Amino acid sequence: MNLPYAEPYKIKMVEPIYRSSREERELWIKNAGYNLFNLRSNQVYIDLLTDSGTGAMSDSQWAAIMTGDESYAGASSYYNLKETIKRLTGFEYFLPTHQGRAAENVLFSVLMKEGNVVPGNSHFDTTKGHIEFRKAKAIDCTIDEAFNTTLQHPFKGNIDLNKLENVYKEYPAENIPCVIVTLTCNSSGGQPVSMQNLKEVKALSEKYGIMVIYDSARFAENAYFIKVREKGYENKTIKEIVAEMFTYADGMTMSSKKDGIVNIGGFIALNSEKIFKEASTFNIIFEGFITYGGMAGRDMNALAVGLDEATEFVYLESRIKQVEYLGEKLIAAGIPIQQPIGGHAVFVDAKRVLPNLPKEQYVAQTLAIELYLEGGIRGVEIGTLLADRDPETRENRYPNLELLRLAIPRRVYTYRHMDVIAQALINVYNRRDSIKSGYKIVSEAPIMRHFTVQLEKI
Ligand SMILES: *Cc1c(COP(=O)(O)O)cnc(C)c1O
Repeated sequence: MNLPYAEPYKIKMVEPIYRSSREERELWIKNAGYNLFNLRSNQVYIDLLTDSGTGAMSDSQWAAIMTGDESYAGASSYYNLKETIKRLTGFEYFLPTHQGRAAENVLFSVLMKEGNVVPGNSHFDTTKGHIEFRKAKAIDCTIDEAFNTTLQHPFKGNIDLNKLENVYKEYPAENIPCVIVTLTCNSSGGQPVSMQNLKEVKALSEKYGIMVIYDSARFAENAYFIKVREKGYENKTIKEIVAEMFTYADGMTMSSKKDGIVNIGGFIALNSEKIFKEASTFNIIFEGFITYGGMAGRDMNALAVGLDEATEFVYLESRIKQVEYLGEKLIAAGIPIQQPIGGHAVFVDAKRVLPNLPKEQYVAQTLAIELYLEGGIRGVEIGTLLADRDPETRENRYPNLELLRLAIPRRVYTYRHMDVIAQALINVYNRRDSIKSGYKIVSEAPIMRHFTVQLEKI
């Protein structure tokens, strides 16, 4: 018999987590206004709220922390990071920032102005926020297949080239500062973009004189999917694939909290000296001097090591196999999840779990609360609460999908934890007919309400 798969690391330091009782959780979630964001982390047994900044650093990263150089200007940590980014991505210029949205803020300050349009594959919410803040418009050009959760397609993050060309034809090039390709496509469920598509997007954009920027938070996970799914890449190393991916881009923004495997950080990298110089001014105003940009020297050192680790096949295989292991268990139990399983999270199709619950009662949030009550597991609602109200009519916006996202932190939980998560959700699923009512809003903020909303049981 083949040996089972196991984590390619052993554990040197542990952080105890508390396994609470159902009675405790009932009290805590009520006091939290039935909003999982309001829970204290010690009221959570397994935390799947996000994979952002929640990863575990390696012993090499912790060693790099100790040799961090905290000089204000010209720190060796900055040069370590610069050299690593150049080696992995090929980009000549780089600016550190305190996280991914800060990189967007700095770069978009140079590139975008009122009236611009920015095509891409389902822009991430902070990216869209920074585009719309500048009174520009994000245009979604993702392939239609991405919006069908049951359809099997190896690269659901791909850009539809016809949709993209239509944007290029409709608007003058001066009105399109860039196309943004998100790797992997977070909003469509951690779905990858193929090398073929990256190549074609670059060729088309070059023809129209448009710059290509990658929103690169999960670029290494994207490279893994290219290696295992795209013909011609099976024998290439992840680092070779990453290097090729970035040859089809003019620049990148990065949230290092994802594939940098650090707890905080971000950066911009690009080839244009002109844009780099203009962005440097904004970096100094918003982030800090160009050789630290809101990051401690030790954190830049840890990031340099993290980027190298994240672009190794054994690491990516263990990460993505763990997410798949959880997803496969749910599929085997008949639980409807988005397919194919994404790189960083499993998305449960809440409307198909609780088909009789009215949409006005927050279907995915109800499922998220049930999972917490069942096992102390914290996921996150990607549904009506997140979709918020229409800014003009103030009516609730009801998205097509009500999803419960279970994001898996990097190198933090074991296969046993996945078993617990799966069983807790299966238990909820088996008693789904007894879940007859959901929640109503007691109070909410005018925007971004999901973070602070207070709910009441109906
Ligand atoms: C997380 C993320 C961002 C924003 O990064 P932060 O570090 O959270 O500011 C941008 N784009 C994508 C695709 C992300 O996943």
